Amino acid sequence: MYDIAIIGAGVVGSLIARELAKYNLSLIVLEKENDVAMGSSKANSGIVHAGYDAKTGTLKALLNVKGCKMMPRVTEELAVAYQQNGSLVVAFSSEEMETVKALYTRGKLNGVEDLVLVEQKELRRMEPQLNSAAIGALYAPKAGIVCPYTLTVAALGNAMDNGVALKCNFPVTALHDRSSHFEIVSGLEAVEAAMVINVAGLFADDIAAMVGDDFFSIHPRRGEYYLFDREMAALARQTIFQTPTARGKGVLVTPTAYGNLLIGPSAEDIENKEDKKTSQAGLDKIWHDALKTVPNLPKNGVITEFTGLRASGNTGDFIIAQSPAHPRLLHVAAIDSPGLAASPGIAVYVEDMLRQIGILTQKRSVFYPYRRGIPVLREMGKKERLGLIAKNPAYGRIVCRCEEISEGEILDAIHQNPKATDLDGVKRRTRSGMGRCQGSFCMPTVTEILSRERGVPMEQISKKGPGSEILAGKTK
Ligand SMILES: Cc1cc2nc3c(=O)[nH]c(=O)nc-3n(C[C@H](O)[C@H](O)[C@H](O)COP(=O)(O)OP(=O)(O)OC[C@H]3O[C@@H](n4cnc5c(N)ncnc54)[C@H](O)[C@@H]3O)c2cc1C
Repeated sequence: MYDIAIIGAGVVGSLIARELAKYNLSLIVLEKENDVAMGSSKANSGIVHAGYDAKTGTLKALLNVKGCKMMPRVTEELAVAYQQNGSLVVAFSSEEMETVKALYTRGKLNGVEDLVLVEQKELRRMEPQLNSAAIGALYAPKAGIVCPYTLTVAALGNAMDNGVALKCNFPVTALHDRSSHFEIVSGLEAVEAAMVINVAGLFADDIAAMVGDDFFSIHPRRGEYYLFDREMAALARQTIFQTPTARGKGVLVTPTAYGNLLIGPSAEDIENKEDKKTSQAGLDKIWHDALKTVPNLPKNGVITEFTGLRASGNTGDFIIAQSPAHPRLLHVAAIDSPGLAASPGIAVYVEDMLRQIGILTQKRSVFYPYRRGIPVLREMGKKERLGLIAKNPAYGRIVCRCEEISEGEILDAIHQNPKATDLDGVKRRTRSGMGRCQGSFCMPTVTEILSRERGVPMEQISKKGPGSEILAGKTK
């Protein structure tokens, strides 16, 4: 029996697990997929919003500002790619400039530091590739960019290094309140825990419904993107938003934490929570809208497209609340944007709540907040790189030529918590296969390494868990 079970290994569940790992409790994270960060935390814009966007007084506003302030320390402790590159909300008309000024005022009320309104001349100096029709902007220097799935992997990895258990391929199918504890069922398996935290993203309302809670609902909203080659990164220095409308923040143009360029997302309400297809109409719309921001976007710089699904709630705010009928069940739901930016703040908020209701009493005598992470050889100087190769020659064998990823980095991904067991898991942790050729050259070698290190035949190595195996059998 565990003290606490967390359902969902997205960025929020993982950072909550890490925060609670500081206490003398037994904890388990239950995840339906073969790996962590497989929901909204896998495919989003990766922006650490400053916090001027959310309505003052909401949990979104409070926790966005808190999370943004915490992000530099959290990412440093966890060795996660993060840059405080700042963000701009640009206006193309005097009407839009009024909205931008209102965002400035709201940002101040929300507690966002160092906001500045910038005029056209200064704007052009800051962003030389920006459409010259832009007349002014709101500049938020504390906004940043982070790799969302590396943050998730690192947070849960650090929680695991401090004693938290993880069970993947465990889709929760039933939740029974047995009065002294919960029985959490997945098919024929069950896990028992005194308390449950429901952080199941798009499926949080389905988990709630398992015990009769129907006070919130979650709807998928699709967001599509184009990702560009690293050579295009100079087209935007800051994260550039257009002026928001009632439909949302609109299409952004931003560098990513790994130096690519990203445009998107679209915003389309859909029915199916599993529908992660891209659509030509959605992609055409983001392309058209992004050209308004940066007119020189080159189509031949695009290396891939992808979709993420937002978990939009019916209240418009994050829902962090005890179940009315089952007080040992806590729902952390409707965590759509700015949920990534807010995630460290949400984790501390949940910790505070559990302390107030007497669940968290005794801190562990030892908690180790740091994670070594996977060294990124591509970003190292020659001396540092040679030093690492001298200690372990595997760092000298390049497997992914586009992204310059070595066998040593792939071995780290397979052996560090939470261990990568499939090709996409290695890709998300190291970027192997994320470059121009999108894995055509390195996939066979990564398959061989996974097979060797896991001690399983190559035919059992999958792209993303059971059912997506790559090889059928030997031909010679
Ligand atoms: C297109 C898009 C753009 C975004 N851009 C930004 C941005 O720039 N900045 C920002 O701050 N936020 C952004 N967000 C929001 C951000 O991505 C989310 O707020 C955040 O990822 C939510 O994390 P989570 O852990 O709550 O959910 P998720 O990452 O969805 O995790 C939930 C987990 O629960 C698991 N699960 C579900 N059902 C079950 C079950 N029955 N049993 C076991 N496990 C289960 C899922 O597999 C998943 O791993 C964006 C979102 C999208 C989709």
